[in-house]
Amino acid sequence: MVDLFIVGAGPAGANLARLAGERHQVLLLDQRDLRGENPLNRKTKCCGGLLAPDAQKILGEMGLGIPRDVLVDPQLFAVRTLDVSSGEEALYQRHYYNLDREKFDRWLVSLLPPSVKTCFNAVYLSHEAIPGGFIVRYRQKGELKEVKTRLLIGADGAFSKVRRTLALPQNPSSYVCIQEEYPAEDLPPYFTAIFDLAVTDFYGWIIPKDNHLLLGLAVPQGKDPWEAMEKLRSRLALKGIFLQKKIRTEGAHLLRPQKNSQFSPGKDGVLLVGEASGAISPSSAEGISYALRTSLLLAKALEEGIPGVLSRYAKSLFPLRRNLLGKRLKSPFMYQPRLRKAVMASGLLAMKPFHSPLLWPCPR
Ligand SMILES: Cc1cc2nc3c(=O)[nH]c(=O)nc-3n(C[C@H](O)[C@H](O)[C@H](O)COP(=O)(O)OP(=O)(O)OC[C@H]3O[C@@H](n4cnc5c(N)ncnc54)[C@H](O)[C@@H]3O)c2cc1C
Repeated sequence: MVDLFIVGAGPAGANLARLAGERHQVLLLDQRDLRGENPLNRKTKCCGGLLAPDAQKILGEMGLGIPRDVLVDPQLFAVRTLDVSSGEEALYQRHYYNLDREKFDRWLVSLLPPSVKTCFNAVYLSHEAIPGGFIVRYRQKGELKEVKTRLLIGADGAFSKVRRTLALPQNPSSYVCIQEEYPAEDLPPYFTAIFDLAVTDFYGWIIPKDNHLLLGLAVPQGKDPWEAMEKLRSRLALKGIFLQKKIRTEGAHLLRPQKNSQFSPGKDGVLLVGEASGAISPSSAEGISYALRTSLLLAKALEEGIPGVLSRYAKSLFPLRRNLLGKRLKSPFMYQPRLRKAVMASGLLAMKPFHSPLLWPCPR
């Protein structure tokens, strides 16, 4: 019997296990090979790996700093916004840390106290309520296993199986992302955000990573992501951006919440943190800060013990709900074509680029 069975060792699950692991008996499970125990397991988290200021702030609050080894080149100071439909372009100041996402997650796992039991290369299958807790079933190395737990935590991301078992009345819209990696010698020194209604009602992106580029795209579930990606590439080619010799493609689900009621702290002894709870920015899809924040708040709620934890956690989420509302209010200015065009054309909050129109590769 453990106190907390955490499904998912992304930033939400690993951070919760780290913070709650000294006080409670914790089992942290993930299908990924987060400690290098099984070289045959190549599952990774598909992510842009940009650490936004909010995430940096929470790391600071928790007394953590990121090791250099987790960073990749170059560090970025600007986002280039490309509205393909209207032809508008703008450059905005941003302060991201550019990360190797897999290394970031492994670093968080490396901070776990020895008291936390980990179970990697293992897949959560189901759970069943029993008096005082749950029986959780999972598969590891082909074997079916069971563990009893007092609380079950769903930290299993956008496609959360734990959340689906709760049959919540409202769920955020689901998007499918594709991310392609290309070799590149001249790296654009910014994160490029691409808006094009002919491709998606969300956005695409280009992010430099060491000597590679990531081209990513999020499309609503139900739309063919491959067709949309091909269209994006051809639209970029028209803008003079050619990406060739693809090295690899990865994919993932992504949530885009539309209402506060789609965000849930959990139900009936099952708690949700990170993207599984529906906590992610609906305007930028930035999710690492929300994963860290929700797990920090749940760890605080657990400090007073297990009884009543759901209501303490739910109560502490009020500022985060307000924050999500703020991001939703910002969304029309980014995604409503006329409003976006007007904002970009006005130059409001934009930087004045030295080279105009922006050039890539940048002249040295
Ligand atoms: C393409 C893409 C790009 C993104 N770029 C950024 C970015 O640049 N910056 C940013 O801040 N956010 C970004 N996000 C959002 C961000 O990645 C997520 O919001 C964040 O990772 C959520 O953290 P989490 O811990 O809640 O879930 P996750 O990081 O998704 O972790 C969930 C974990 O659960 C495990 N898991 C899931 N199901 C099971 C199961 N059945 N059994 C065992 N293990 C399971 C997974 O292996 C995973 O390790 C991006 C998302 C996508 C899809």
